[in-house]
Amino acid sequence: MQILENESLKKYTTIKIGGNAKHLYIPESIDDLVNLMERIKNDKYYIIGGGSNILMNDQKTYENVICLTAMDNNIKSLGNGTYYVGASVRVQELINHINKDGFCGIEYLYSVPALIGGAIVMNAGRGRGHGLSISDFIEEVHIWDGGSIKVVKNDKCGFEYRKSNFKNSKVIVLGGKFTFDKIINDGSRMTKQDRINYSKKVQDYSGPSFGSVFCQHDRKIMQIVRILSPGFKNGISFSNKTSNWLTNRGEGTYLQAVSLINRVKRYHKIIGRKAVPEVIIWE
Ligand SMILES: Cc1cc2nc3c(=O)[nH]c(=O)nc-3n(C[C@H](O)[C@H](O)[C@H](O)COP(=O)(O)OP(=O)(O)OC[C@H]3O[C@@H](n4cnc5c(N)ncnc54)[C@H](O)[C@@H]3O)c2cc1C
Repeated sequence: MQILENESLKKYTTIKIGGNAKHLYIPESIDDLVNLMERIKNDKYYIIGGGSNILMNDQKTYENVICLTAMDNNIKSLGNGTYYVGASVRVQELINHINKDGFCGIEYLYSVPALIGGAIVMNAGRGRGHGLSISDFIEEVHIWDGGSIKVVKNDKCGFEYRKSNFKNSKVIVLGGKFTFDKIINDGSRMTKQDRINYSKKVQDYSGPSFGSVFCQHDRKIMQIVRILSPGFKNGISFSNKTSNWLTNRGEGTYLQAVSLINRVKRYHKIIGRKAVPEVIIWE
């Protein structure tokens, strides 16, 4: 296991905002992780996967941070479109792998810079109206539950829109068993290239971001907030292209992002609505 001391976390997040880790642990196997957790399980710890949906406090030093990029990078075929996939596998790598084997299903995640563990925790998927998420293909999730390794069947994972029982908990997702669809080339399914084209068209890649800010919000209120307070010059601002995204124009800070998020929440509250952040905020 690698252990980095006083490591800046900026480069571990897609929005390029980070605090510091007093100890940054990078387990290189499940055994590494379990041994580490035996030591630190009673302390506060934070988990980073792909870092694509986390807003860290850049003023803060976090005592224990665990980065899961190297814990388990294996994709094991169990036959007939069923795979065991380690939490550290990149979503794109999994899609490439199953497509080569003649299977498909989650191509709409080809643009998502996540690891499988993070995608399971967040139940990553398409927008609310599409009713598609990674949990549609999950059979079971393997976790470290605070004491030992357990296997949780899909119906016990609490999957909902951008939600699972593993979100904001002490549980660490180690990997999952998936069963994907067989590819039928009748032109009806979304391919990787379709998703790349779609993302280029509608998603804002002009600067670092963490994707959607809210998983529940009112589009009209967001538009009003964006017009009234577009954001900070050279810092965090609402995207002009993707309505529910914040973009870091280079000098963005935690406080700027939080102030825009709170502004959206306040506007919702005024008219009796609720805006629920999707992004995980490390206060
Ligand atoms: C450009 C861009 C496009 C995006 N598009 C989409 C999209 O189309 N659909 C969508 O759903 N999301 C999208 N997102 C958001 C984000 O990619 C997803 O939420 C993704 O699932 C986060 O995965 P991650 O590995 O980066 O997790 P992280 O951001 O590292 O972590 C997210 C949360 O999960 C926890 N966590 C991560 N891994 C584990 C683990 N193994 N065990 C326990 N806890 C863990 C973290 O502590 C944190 O609380 C996008 C983000 C970006 C930047």
